[in-house]
Amino acid sequence: MGCTATDVIGALQAGAAAVSAHRDELIQLDRVIGDADHGENMDRGFRAVVSKLDTAVPETPGAVLKQVATTLISTVGGASGPLYGTAFLRAAAAVGDAPELDGPAVAAALQAGLDGVVARGKAVAGDKTMVDALIPAVDAAKAAAADGAGPARVLEVAAQAAHSGAQATEPLVARKGRASYLGERSAGHVDPGARSTALLLSAFVESRSV
Ligand code: ADP
Ligand code: MG
Ligand code: MG
Repeated sequence: MGCTATDVIGALQAGAAAVSAHRDELIQLDRVIGDADHGENMDRGFRAVVSKLDTAVPETPGAVLKQVATTLISTVGGASGPLYGTAFLRAAAAVGDAPELDGPAVAAALQAGLDGVVARGKAVAGDKTMVDALIPAVDAAKAAAADGAGPARVLEVAAQAAHSGAQATEPLVARKGRASYLGERSAGHVDPGARSTALLLSAFVESRSV
């Protein structure tokens, strides 16, 4: 079964709940290698996403993703706002005005989101950023979609891979963003943005509506 606009909205509501539940954890991760605001930034942004969806309900998955992008860009400051905003904007463009998304469309949306983050932030694999969660997620999603997986399974394998990718940022030395100011001292801590990416993808899966 395809993923409709209603499913995408359900997934985003679950994502907002997950970000809120993990707000303090994300703050704590960012406290040690950044400026302790990642949980706050993400929570503010996703609260705004949900409240906007209460008043304006777009009719296609792409239109929902586009609304998310503009909301995040206008409410989340810092590095992560424009990066997540660009990811959702590119994902929206990738799915176009299709009424439902199948497995390959979900994988293509994730690929477009990653491409947007990379275009905007110029991070490469191993720089200790959200890109380190997204790259394995996209690879897993594309492989599953090529094997005929539907949207739910594609997201499930993407979330699993994102968690491994986020965990694998722990020993890395940051080369992008605020954490890079710490140099070698950034090693030994999970990157907050990689963690939030993994949390969002898991929540999308657990919303069970996609
Ligand atoms: P800020 O660093 O401005 O306070 P946040 O704390 O909200 O913003 O977000 C920090 C996260 O943003 C990092 O953990 C990292 O994952 C991500 N990030 C920062 N710079 C980049 C970049 N150039 N490319 C990709 N991700 C980045
Ligand atoms: Mg920060
Ligand atoms: Mg900040």
